[in-house]
Amino acid sequence: MRPAPMSSTTDTPPALDRRSLRPDCTNCFALCCTALGFSRSVDFAVDKPAGIPCRNLASDFSCTIHEVLRPRGFRGCTVFDCFGAGQHVSQGLFGGISWAADPESGKDMCAAFKTARQLHEMLWYLEEAQGRTFDPEARHRAGRLRTTIEAAMGGGVHRLLGLNVEEVHVSVRALLIEISEEVRMSYSAAGREHLDAALVPGADLIGRNLRSRRLCGADLRGAYLIGADLRFNDLSGVDLLGADLRDAHLDGADLSRALYLTQSQLDAAGGSRSTRLPADLKVPDHWGVS
Ligand code: SF4
Repeated sequence: MRPAPMSSTTDTPPALDRRSLRPDCTNCFALCCTALGFSRSVDFAVDKPAGIPCRNLASDFSCTIHEVLRPRGFRGCTVFDCFGAGQHVSQGLFGGISWAADPESGKDMCAAFKTARQLHEMLWYLEEAQGRTFDPEARHRAGRLRTTIEAAMGGGVHRLLGLNVEEVHVSVRALLIEISEEVRMSYSAAGREHLDAALVPGADLIGRNLRSRRLCGADLRGAYLIGADLRFNDLSGVDLLGADLRDAHLDGADLSRALYLTQSQLDAAGGSRSTRLPADLKVPDHWGVS
């Protein structure tokens, strides 16, 4: 039986904290498998246009190859994180009536999902930023941005689709960077001399051996860390916003105080039970136990 809607569109929006920013596929109409498009690559075995259900999607919105996604060439599906936007749009905004039951809603549902996913991702980061800054004014601004986004999410489909997401994103991004600077400085009280010039935002660190490099307080926002060796390193205070951690080696690394880390980054990386993670992220199923 289909679960009851989480809330009507006229309810006061719930506080979207990190517990509600996790995917709940059982309450979603497979919006990631429908709304998004992907190109054939190492992460996806086929091309799929946006707005068209994936050919592997079953009529009950489950994936027919869920257990073998990686060997079948769909690794991208195993690392995707909607930050809870799927169930929010399916149940909260569209009242539990799927695009299959009401095909006319499909276009708006897909558009709402894409917007909601961006907003939920911002909420994920803002909650962390708000909790880590010691600056009351920055904390207040983070709270206001969260309220603005939550109001847009709770205000119905048309309000959501009318939101200027880019404008919100600019404000969120500026605040995340500001709070990152504050946090990272606290990890290098004696200055930044230990950070070498290669450790900068967007750096190409593909395949690099960073195992014995001191990284605490580094700004690796948007860095390419594909296949990088970060084993047994302390990444406290390292800004990893949007960093590409595909196949990075994280065995024994301490990410418990890293900044702006997401579950999908971990899911794309390699690690083990000896990798230390922030409390609200979980050990990926495919990681070893050593
Ligand atoms: S392969 Fe499965 S999980 Fe990936 S998009 Fe298709 S139905 Fe969804």
